[in-house]
Amino acid sequence: MILLKTKEEIELIRDAALLLGKTLAEVGRHIRPGVTTAFLDQIGEQFIRDNGAKPLCKGFEGFPSAFCISVNDVVVHGIPGEVFIQEGDNVSLDCVIELNGYVADSAYTFPVGEVSPEMQRLMKVTKEALYIGLDKCKAGNRVGDIGHAVQVHCEKNGYSVVRELCGHGVGFKMHESPNVPNYGVPGTGPLLKEGMVIAVEPMVCMGSKNVKFSKEDGWTCRTRDGKPAAHFEHTVAITADGPDILTTFDFIENNK
Ligand code: MG
Ligand code: MG
Repeated sequence: MILLKTKEEIELIRDAALLLGKTLAEVGRHIRPGVTTAFLDQIGEQFIRDNGAKPLCKGFEGFPSAFCISVNDVVVHGIPGEVFIQEGDNVSLDCVIELNGYVADSAYTFPVGEVSPEMQRLMKVTKEALYIGLDKCKAGNRVGDIGHAVQVHCEKNGYSVVRELCGHGVGFKMHESPNVPNYGVPGTGPLLKEGMVIAVEPMVCMGSKNVKFSKEDGWTCRTRDGKPAAHFEHTVAITADGPDILTTFDFIENNK
């Protein structure tokens, strides 16, 4: 069942979303060669708790950390640990927080120092795909319209989109209905209605779309061909005035 949110509830989700935007920026400031992903996770978890919120990934189905931190060929669900960040890497931070009972979800892929032009282009196209998908988050459209728009933009740029994982409803809980795939057929899937809040999150591979999940930890999702992937995510409300993007990259990109 898809749970609709009132305007008041959307404002409460926005409060969580704003704090999440600040959190990603705070952790992003510490990304540099030589630090470990465990260190970044620790900084972020402290920031979340200091601001009266809860990191929901921690403990979710046994996930051990506040953040998913995914470097290079790790698409998503990287577990923070003794992974040392290096110049030229891409580092995706993905986090879900709950503030006053309301939940927001966002992810951003950061370049570390000088990254290759190929890596830069992958990150740029993935972020473009996110906003193209968000643009379809209008009442009367269907979930397939979002996925189709994301897929077309990525594929026309020579990239592929992951099939195994997708966006989702969010707001009261970390994962709600509906699923929001990054591929699809226009005019198909659940109808988008005013009051829906969803996470749109393109996971885009430079090479083939095939991924594998770590047998050791059960979480880490890597590209099979070892090529890099990127991931950007926003929480968005579907309103009478169109898409209302609740999370923000402003604190990261405009140093707010
Ligand atoms: Mg996320
Ligand atoms: Mg998500």
